Amino acid sequence: MHRRSLLLATTSLLALPAARAGAASTSASKAPDVWPHDARVPGGVARLSLGPSAARPAARTEGDVPLLVLGDAIEWTALVGIPLAAAPGTSRITVRAEDGAERQIAYTVAPKRYSEQRLKVAPGTVDLSPADQARYERERAHQATVMATFTDPRLQDLQMRVPVPGRRSSSFGLRRVFNGQSRNPHSGMDIAAATGTPVLAPLPGRVIDTGDYFFNGGTVWLDHGGGLLTMYCHLSRVDVKVGDALKTGERLAAVGATGRVTGPHLHWGVMLNRTMVDPALFIAG
Ligand code: ZN
Repeated sequence: MHRRSLLLATTSLLALPAARAGAASTSASKAPDVWPHDARVPGGVARLSLGPSAARPAARTEGDVPLLVLGDAIEWTALVGIPLAAAPGTSRITVRAEDGAERQIAYTVAPKRYSEQRLKVAPGTVDLSPADQARYERERAHQATVMATFTDPRLQDLQMRVPVPGRRSSSFGLRRVFNGQSRNPHSGMDIAAATGTPVLAPLPGRVIDTGDYFFNGGTVWLDHGGGLLTMYCHLSRVDVKVGDALKTGERLAAVGATGRVTGPHLHWGVMLNRTMVDPALFIAG
């Protein structure tokens, strides 16, 4: 799914929309030292103030998925991952105080038009064989259980280190159409790097899944607490096992071209409340 030609093409293709989004995101420019940046668009993150309280409040999405709540008794903040498929308009979260009292907080999702890429590929490469389709369905069910991981929040600073040096494409959100058939939008960041380049943990985290999957190839998932997960795909080797605890900068794998790709690169995904969001919101520069 992550063809090298796509990676190269999107770097220049998306420079303009990315610049526009940055200009429109006034809150990000007011608070440039806060990660993730506030970007209330599909694929972005809403930082919602919950105010002061002695204990950490619990917050959930409208779909009843638990949210990451950070801060201290002076000020708590809910970080809400907004799905790429979210409709612009008003959304709400539910906040429950220690005494059980519930309140709702509304926020507005602004529209964001991501670029579309239409590709013509050989017939037969778009449709999966029955055996591949069955494998993919099994893997999707397993991945859903991985994505539902929610452990106690344990980090306050969520600024991420880039997991591999290299040219970062801004292809997050790119809508892809193969031979006229829409595919899921691109839900991560592609970083160009040679096979064998070490992949480093961007934050402290615990390994919650490793595997070799049909589309994603060699894959590692990390749990950073509070439903903040990161995913690394197309790896040529995996150097960790489930349960390992990693510090920032510790090696977890090596870049490769496994799964459905034509060239080596890292596909990096960042997930909040079971929603893939733009990794660029978590890194400086
Ligand atoms: Zn990718």
